[in-house]
Amino acid sequence: MSGGDDAAPLLVAGEWERAGEPFAACAAGDGPVVGHTFHALPEQLDRATTGAVRAFDGTRRSASYERGELLRRAAELIAADVEGLARTLAAEIGKPINDARLEVRRTATTFRMAGEEAERIGGEMLPLDLLPSARGRWGITRHLPIGPVAAITPFNVPLSLSAHKLAPALAAGCTVVLKPDSRAALTLLRLAGLLVEAGVPAGALSMLPMSTSVGDRMVTDDRFRMVSFTGSARAGWDIRSRAGTKKVTLELGGNAPVIVDETADVAHAVARTVAGGFKYAGQLCISVQRAFVHRAVWDEFVGGLVKGAEALTVGAPLDENTQVGPMISVAAADRIRSWVDEAVSGGARLLTGGAGDGAYVAPAVLEQVPATARVAAEEAFGPVVVVSPFDDVDAAFAAADATPYGLQAGYFTRDLHRTWRAFEALEFGAVIINDVPTFRVDNMPFGGVKSSGLGREGIRWTIADMSEQRLLVLAPE
Ligand code: NAD
Repeated sequence: MSGGDDAAPLLVAGEWERAGEPFAACAAGDGPVVGHTFHALPEQLDRATTGAVRAFDGTRRSASYERGELLRRAAELIAADVEGLARTLAAEIGKPINDARLEVRRTATTFRMAGEEAERIGGEMLPLDLLPSARGRWGITRHLPIGPVAAITPFNVPLSLSAHKLAPALAAGCTVVLKPDSRAALTLLRLAGLLVEAGVPAGALSMLPMSTSVGDRMVTDDRFRMVSFTGSARAGWDIRSRAGTKKVTLELGGNAPVIVDETADVAHAVARTVAGGFKYAGQLCISVQRAFVHRAVWDEFVGGLVKGAEALTVGAPLDENTQVGPMISVAAADRIRSWVDEAVSGGARLLTGGAGDGAYVAPAVLEQVPATARVAAEEAFGPVVVVSPFDDVDAAFAAADATPYGLQAGYFTRDLHRTWRAFEALEFGAVIINDVPTFRVDNMPFGGVKSSGLGREGIRWTIADMSEQRLLVLAPE
C-alpha cells in the first residue's frame, strides 16, 4: 500500500492533500490494484465542513451568470476528458468501457443543464390582499440556497449520481462535501480536479472518500443543512432517522418490474429487457428484475430473452466488445449465485445463466419462482430476471405493485386505455410506456415512493430541494 507521490490527493476545502489513511483502490471483482488514495480522517472532514460553511457566505451571494459560467465550463472540461474519466471508471468499478463513456457524457450534460437552470432560478409575485385587513399587500418570493450540503453516493453510477448532487448544489449557490463510495474514489477525485479547474470557489467543494463511520459524522453535524443520499434503503432510512432538523433526500433501491401484454411489440420488448436486465451486470437501482408477460406472447418473449441473455458478451470491462463485466465483488456474485440456488431449491426453473467464476455471473433468467424467494422479493442488484405469466393485465399491475419498493415500472403495450390504467395503478415514481424501467435521462424527475426513497432528483427538482423559499411581504404605509 502506498500513500506516496503517486497517490491521488483529497480535495479538502480548496486544498489538495496527500494525507489521510492510505488505501489501495482495486479493480472491481476483487481485482488488482489500480491506484492509491486516502480515506479522510475526522480532522480533514471537520476542516472540509468548516470550509463549506465559510465558502457559503460567498456562494450564496454569487450572481446567476457566475454560477452558469462555472457549470458550463465544468461541462466542457468533462466532455474533453471522456476517455480519461471513462477508463478510470471502467478500471475501478468494472463498468464496460462503452457504458462508462456514456456515463461520462451524461455527466457533462448534467453540468451543462445545471448551468442553464442556474440562470433561471426565479420567484413569484403574489397578491396578498385576500382580506380587507390585507388591502394593498403583495408578496415576493425568492429561492435562496439552503446551505452546506452533505452528499453521499454509491459505487454503481458514481459520476452521474454525484453530478446530480454537485451540479444543482453549485447552481443553487450551495456548498458541498461529497463522500463518494471508496470503490469509485479515483474517478470522483479526477472529476473534482476538473471542477477546480473550472473555477469552483475554494471550500465550495470538498471531495472526501471516507470510511462509512467517518462519513456518518456528516449525518449528525448541524453545520450541514441538508443530507442528499443515494444508496441502499437500509442505510438511507437509518440516516433520515438520525439527521435531526436537516432536510434529507433519499434515492434508494428497488426491484423494478416490466409488464409485456399481448398487444406489445415483443421483439422490441425483448431487446430492451435484455439491456435493462443485464446492463452493468444488473447493478442498477432500476435494473429489470421482474418481468410479467401475457401468456399469448410468453413463448416469444421468454425464448427471445433467454437467447438475448446468452448472446451477451461477458468479459473484461476495458475490452471494447464487453457487454457484461464482473460484479463489484466476489461476495456480491456469491450472493447472487446463492439466491439463484435458493429459488431453484424452492421450485424455480433456471432457464439460463446463474453460474460463473469469481465475480462473473452469467446473465440469468428464472421462471416459476416462489414469491418469497429473495431473488423475487428483495432487491437482487445483479444480472437476474424473474419471469412470470399472466392472463389479466390488471392482475399483472397488482403483482408488479406487490413490493415494498417503487422506483420505476415499465409497460410494453399498444393499448391507450391500459396505458392510462397502468399510470393510475402502478405506485412508482415513474411509469415508462414501451420501454424498460431502466430508462433515465437527466432532465426528468427521478426518484421513488415507499421504501425506494424520498424526493425527486433531476436538475430543476434538486435545485428546488437545495433552496429555501423566502417571502417578502410589502404593505402600504
Ligand atoms: P450503501 O447504502 O451500502 O452505500 C452507499 C454509499 O453510502 C457508500 O458510499 C457508503 O459508504 C455510504 N453510506 C452508507 N451508510 C452511511 C452512513 N451511515 N453515513 C455515511 N455514509 C454512508 O449502498 P451500496 O450497496 O453500496 O449501493 C447500492 C445500493 O444503492 C442499491 O440498493 C441501489 O439500488 C442503490 N442505488 C439507488 C439509486 C437511486 O438513484 N435510487 C441509484 C444507484 C444505487
